[in-house]
Amino acid sequence: MASFGRQVVNSTQRCDVRIMCVCACGGNRYDCTAAGRVDTGDSSMKIERIETFQVQWSPNDTPAQRSAFVRVWTDDGLYGIGEASPMQGGIASLLMIQHDIAPALIGADPLDHAVLQDRLTHKLVKLGPEGALTGALAAIDIALWDIKGKMFGQPIYKLMGGGWRTELPFYASIGGNGIERSLDDVLRHVETRMKDQPAAIKIRFDNGRVDLDSQIPDHIEKARAVRKQVGDKFPLAFDSNNGYSTGGAMRVGRVLEELDYWWFEEPVQHYHIQATGEVAQRLSITVSAGEQTYTMGGLAELIDAGVRMIQPDIVKMGGITGLQRCAALAHAHGVELVSHQTQPTVGHLANMHVVAAQLHATKPIEWNDPSDRMHSVFDEVPKPVNGLFKLPDRPGLGMDFVEDKLAERRIDVTG
Ligand code: CA
Repeated sequence: MASFGRQVVNSTQRCDVRIMCVCACGGNRYDCTAAGRVDTGDSSMKIERIETFQVQWSPNDTPAQRSAFVRVWTDDGLYGIGEASPMQGGIASLLMIQHDIAPALIGADPLDHAVLQDRLTHKLVKLGPEGALTGALAAIDIALWDIKGKMFGQPIYKLMGGGWRTELPFYASIGGNGIERSLDDVLRHVETRMKDQPAAIKIRFDNGRVDLDSQIPDHIEKARAVRKQVGDKFPLAFDSNNGYSTGGAMRVGRVLEELDYWWFEEPVQHYHIQATGEVAQRLSITVSAGEQTYTMGGLAELIDAGVRMIQPDIVKMGGITGLQRCAALAHAHGVELVSHQTQPTVGHLANMHVVAAQLHATKPIEWNDPSDRMHSVFDEVPKPVNGLFKLPDRPGLGMDFVEDKLAERRIDVTG
């Protein structure tokens, strides 16, 4: 949404969404390109209602395979879009928003997003401070930042203080490479994803987390084969997704060092913080963790244990406000923050805005799912060009629903 004209208003008038307004308040001039009073204090804009729904990507999707979105409306007719963690389809988060969060948000000023998040985190902590609640609050925070961007007529990264970079290299994140997939099939997946010109490739090994170490020979064989496939120089990462014991992780980590992998992600169970730290300190490869950490305190414990690369996820904890705080925490400790992000639309864009504004972006951003089906309800979904994702210059997140397409796939979750 850009400005389409210019309209002079006084300090309490509202300007049209698509008109650039110039306000002469007390001799000062304020521009805005979105609806809202042009006040210097309280924005006077109020949250009016919140929609919670899943989007079904395929007719055969189970509820747990759908994505979870919110749309927060203001009384000025603006709205913002947010996304919750897709675990089990995000249903628990969407229901928490409807039952527990929305009643506290209706009538609030959307510009108070950080205050609202902190207040609700503490108020609702006994619902379980990690997982569904943090995913719900993350979705709301992203939507409120989208509103804020539209209100001020600026992309979100600009409102965070500006971008160090607006074109972001990415790594192709390839899941499902365990014993369920043959070695040849793993190599085929890598070959396919290389066509998008990633700056690196991450191969992920999923298991039920109740059968540690049993697949180690298979994983090592595949790690060696992928290294041989892409050549000595191409950056590779390895994600065990919590598949090993401490000893098993040491064994795999030494092979990854020999193969010159860039980082070794989630070597042991996420709740074994000291063991994660021990693996990190005893290996020379960078060991990372944090996508299953939902609090700043949890990340601080990982850092304290010796982890030197943390990977919080913007749709799992904190939203944009939270990820900014995580970046400050990492910077204060000289630790890399390489955010985890596997959702290809709202989550991906929100993450891009924060990474653009992050001082040190030492590794490329994650890109999990390049399939077009994930893009079918939005107008301008980011796609890489020559290996780079470009930040949109539209206000807010920079992406919007295509209403008729959304209507075809939308499933309301209201409880
Ligand atoms: Ca992982």
